[in-house]
Amino acid sequence: MKSRDVIIIGGGSTGLSIAYYLSKFGVDDVSVLEMNYVGSGSTGRCGTGIRAQFADEATIKMMKHAEGEWRELAEEIGFEFRQTGYLYLHHTEEELNQYRQIKELQNSLGVPTEILTPTEARELCEPLDVSKLTGASYNPEDGKAHPFEVVTGFKKYFQEGNVELRENVKVVEVELRKEGRLKKVETADGTYETEVLVNAAGGWAPAVGEMMGLDLPVEPYRHQAIITEPFKPGTIEPMVISMKHESAYLTQTERGGIIGGVGTPEDERPTYDTTETLDFEERVSRAFTAIIPSLKYARILRHWAGYYATSPDGNPLLGEYKVPGHYLAAGYSGHGYMMAPSVGEGIAELITSGETELPLDYYDPERIDRGELRDAAVQMG
Ligand SMILES: Cc1cc2nc3c(=O)[nH]c(=O)nc-3n(C[C@H](O)[C@H](O)[C@H](O)COP(=O)(O)OP(=O)(O)OC[C@H]3O[C@@H](n4cnc5c(N)ncnc54)[C@H](O)[C@@H]3O)c2cc1C
Repeated sequence: MKSRDVIIIGGGSTGLSIAYYLSKFGVDDVSVLEMNYVGSGSTGRCGTGIRAQFADEATIKMMKHAEGEWRELAEEIGFEFRQTGYLYLHHTEEELNQYRQIKELQNSLGVPTEILTPTEARELCEPLDVSKLTGASYNPEDGKAHPFEVVTGFKKYFQEGNVELRENVKVVEVELRKEGRLKKVETADGTYETEVLVNAAGGWAPAVGEMMGLDLPVEPYRHQAIITEPFKPGTIEPMVISMKHESAYLTQTERGGIIGGVGTPEDERPTYDTTETLDFEERVSRAFTAIIPSLKYARILRHWAGYYATSPDGNPLLGEYKVPGHYLAAGYSGHGYMMAPSVGEGIAELITSGETELPLDYYDPERIDRGELRDAAVQMG
């Protein structure tokens, strides 16, 4: 039986980022256990988007910090973080005024969001139909990074360092000591002794919680996305968002495909089913062509589904939870990829020193038990 300082369950953006910061902070003995391959969960299925345009102080601060870290990580582990902005389209005066207020909050926290006229919006993305817009919000520091490049970057980085990353190793049991502390983590291929365990299992976090007798408030919701055949790269650079069109989000990858999707329907129930639906293709086609009419000529190349691992208030659950030494980092409800660097750094700080300057308190998982629900963060992408 091996003994490790920290065991991380889950090789998605969350688990990999926590392992990275732990190794930066000098924790030598870290293992990441992934039941499939890195990025095989929601991370490899995400829409690539990274933004600080949120409406609550904590998430804006987390994401302002994360964007700085994304820039440094990109250099250090070798992937591209393309800061091509997020462009929120507004269709009524009411929506525009609401976003003016949000912009003030973002600006006060160092996020340089601007309000643009429809013509200025079209200068950033020429094929947009701006005829029905009242304006747009734009933060040039927001951007995108390809999840495959990110997870393989981490993987290579760990190969040269101290972090043990094991793929195709499923955690099947967690054993606690009589006094309730962590004792052992059983996998399908060996046992580890540890006193610190991170549950970064995304949509499967509840199954890991059950191994410790915990009923975690996280539910998986299917969320679908598409990519089209490639077009001239650089045509749709910002992530374009339209709440009016079923919370549609779309942008272009470096190779030219248009990647994106629309929001999950209200009547969707929690499920582990990741079957793609024709209804989604219809909805996404209607929304995308209303936003950019020339996309009617685009063919969908690939369509897939993953999970939004959702918490009761639409915000992540981050921090030590119920069992001493058990850290939960799940329940992002749709924006967990972009938060990974701040979550990684914050959780690694909690593990190593018990404190962090990042506003992790806001996401304290115990808030749900106390009935202190936060306002839901805007979800799309
Ligand atoms: C279509 C779609 C688009 C999205 N777009 C965006 C976006 O643009 N921006 C954004 O920020 N977010 C986006 N998201 C959300 C984002 O993908 C997730 O919030 C994020 O990837 C969560 O990362 P994670 O590491 O916590 O979970 P995951 O990536 O799901 O990783 C969890 C891992 O744990 C492993 N695991 C589970 N149980 C066990 C076990 N018992 N033993 C070992 N391993 C186990 C799984 O195999 C999995 O690889 C999108 C999601 C979807 C589905």
